[in-house]
Amino acid sequence: MSILSKPYFHDEHAAFEKLESIIWPDGPICPHCGAVDRISEINGKSARIGLKFCGHCRKQFTVRVGTVFERSHVPLHKWLQASYLMCASKKGISAHQLHRTLEVTYKTAWFMEHRLREAMVQDNLPPMGGSGKTVEADETFIGRRKGVLMPKGGVAHKMKVVGLVERGGTVRTFKVDAVTAKAVREIVTENVSRESELQTDEAQHYVNLGKEFSRHGTVHHRDKQYAAGNDYTNTIEGFFGLFKRRDLVDLGTVPPRFDRVGWCL
Ligand SMILES: [Zn+2]
Repeated sequence: MSILSKPYFHDEHAAFEKLESIIWPDGPICPHCGAVDRISEINGKSARIGLKFCGHCRKQFTVRVGTVFERSHVPLHKWLQASYLMCASKKGISAHQLHRTLEVTYKTAWFMEHRLREAMVQDNLPPMGGSGKTVEADETFIGRRKGVLMPKGGVAHKMKVVGLVERGGTVRTFKVDAVTAKAVREIVTENVSRESELQTDEAQHYVNLGKEFSRHGTVHHRDKQYAAGNDYTNTIEGFFGLFKRRDLVDLGTVPPRFDRVGWCL
């Protein structure tokens, strides 16, 4: 037995049971009218798996309604395989790899990854850090913006990403149009508690921003300094290292909503 032998990865009934246990821990809820009682199973040979009937609004539904799995011809157990593969590997999984592993078309695999990434978007998250906690901030340039030609040098053609990591906690990444003091300040102040200690490199856009936190530690990369005691940004740089090894083709086509993502290290 291994995690890959779990029935919900292979059997459609088990897959529905698994999703129902996650989405409806206290029993089914009608997505049309919100009813929690008078919901019955629709059995019978021609009935779709997991089909339910609401006695209040007299409509039918399955647990897929209102989730990223809605209106897809891909069996749910394959969706569960896809989400497991995407979440279980630190560097993610490319749509090509998913297409080969799941034996779905490349187009389908690409669509599935797209939808699953959208589902990973988290909004209105509480601030990171807090008293006695340390948050590292840094930015990186990655891939190539859509429709922009590859020049010989510089970073103008690349996508700009600002990253925040709470040491021992979670990571958030943000796509920005340009790494400006204004853009960075907005992201950092909206996402990091003022009681935190902020760790950054020597970049100018952190100088004033740093004063808004309980302490501001900096490393001077220009002087080939990478850590001084507790002052370092190695955690966020390590994350960027992994992030860049993800499938860049897919990163170039991320949906616009994919700008606030919480990742767990
Ligand atoms: Zn209903």
